[in-house]
Amino acid sequence: MSATDVTSAEATEAAEAAVEAIASSASKEVAFSMELTQDQKDIRDWVHGFAADVMRPAAHEWDEKEKTPWPIIQEAAKIGLYGFEGIAQFFADPTGLGLPIVNEELFWGDAGIGMSIMGTSLAVAAIFGQGTGEQIGEWIPRCFGTPDDVKVAAFCSSEPNAGSDVSAVRTTAKYDEATKEWVLNGQKAWATNGGISDVHVVIATVDRELKSRGHAAFVVPMSEAKGISEGAKVSKHGLRASHTADVYLDDCRIPENYVLGGKEKLDERLARAKEGKKNKSNASMATFEASRPTVGAQALGIARAAYEYALDYAKEREQFGKKIIENQSIAFTLARMKMEIDAARLLVWRASWMGRNQVPFENAEGSMSKLKAGEVAVWVTERAIQILGGNGYTREFPVERFHRDAKIYDIFEGTAEIQQLVISRAISGMYIK
Ligand SMILES: Cc1cc2nc3c(=O)[nH]c(=O)nc-3n(C[C@H](O)[C@H](O)[C@H](O)COP(=O)(O)OP(=O)(O)OC[C@H]3O[C@@H](n4cnc5c(N)ncnc54)[C@H](O)[C@@H]3O)c2cc1C
Repeated sequence: MSATDVTSAEATEAAEAAVEAIASSASKEVAFSMELTQDQKDIRDWVHGFAADVMRPAAHEWDEKEKTPWPIIQEAAKIGLYGFEGIAQFFADPTGLGLPIVNEELFWGDAGIGMSIMGTSLAVAAIFGQGTGEQIGEWIPRCFGTPDDVKVAAFCSSEPNAGSDVSAVRTTAKYDEATKEWVLNGQKAWATNGGISDVHVVIATVDRELKSRGHAAFVVPMSEAKGISEGAKVSKHGLRASHTADVYLDDCRIPENYVLGGKEKLDERLARAKEGKKNKSNASMATFEASRPTVGAQALGIARAAYEYALDYAKEREQFGKKIIENQSIAFTLARMKMEIDAARLLVWRASWMGRNQVPFENAEGSMSKLKAGEVAVWVTERAIQILGGNGYTREFPVERFHRDAKIYDIFEGTAEIQQLVISRAISGMYIK
């Protein structure tokens, strides 16, 4: 039967049935909704208030100083935004949207300060994802310190010759049977909070022949371990209120139980790898995979800040006797900026929901979200400069800072090219090089 065979009575009946089905479903609980819950809206508005009142006004100053904004981290700790309980509450949201919502708002406030507040969470994610219950209980609170004595934490995977190629890590961890200690040697590069943290989570190779399958994550507390020191602090293009430095490990000794997951589990994992059996994941990749949607949300925050600033400016600024937004080229650019941000947010939220509900990333949805959000942030912030014209290019206006901050989202936690590699391997099932 084709559509033309349907009589008008049948069509009316079908339409009435559809209307009834819609009406009755409205009163039932639906499994899918794009509406944030009241709790999520409350958290978003609370973080937004902190971002608008505390971070935004301080953003320029800390960007110029190129220093960690300890007083602002402390303020965040005092209101419960920075700390174990805060992060646990955001993570606990069963929809997975807690962390991306918080990150988007913070990075809307300022990305450099935002990274000083959120940089700790990479180490926290590693401890949470790979540590034993005892290690989680001991180390995660130490990553944050207390509101009176705030601490930050660092996740140290990259090395001068091991950036995208994590398997090239050369830092070694050798087990000393006599003292039951691990002895770490090597150099870590570009570590966010490196050297200024108490807790450093360090990725080292225990068995180099096994490449990345021979890696393990170790907790190295600066306050206890000798042989860990800060190397050169990196002077950066953006995210300048966030500290980035090399970290040296020189015969650095830590107790046996400071390997995440415990030595027994590590020995089992290495034995499986030697037999050629597959292990679930590798130490740094597991951390990056879980954190990618959250990192995408940070990029979104920067993009939204730039878009909102450019929109307001375009509605105010007059040239040729009219507001510049009255030119289609400006208005259409703003329309595309808004659309791209919303599209990226949908990818970020999808991946966050999947991650929280342990839905496998079969098509590398985590990578998709981070790749898209990073590219959108770079493009939107660059367009914002264009819309502000000469003002956009000066440090008197924040959009050039937004642009400098945005660029890192194409680079860290897996470059744009590496994300495409991950996605293309996932969709094809082939080893794309
Ligand atoms: C501000 C900042 C903060 C950071 N924070 C941390 C941190 O807290 N912890 C940490 O461990 N690291 C951190 N990093 C390091 C960051 O993760 C690396 O810079 C990143 O992984 C890229 O590595 P790389 O710089 O060595 O670039 P490379 O790997 O040398 O890449 C250079 C270029 O080659 C491309 N490329 C490489 N391989 C391929 C390939 N197979 N196919 C196609 N293209 C390829 C890349 O995409 C890139 O464009 C940080 C870096 C910065 C700048």
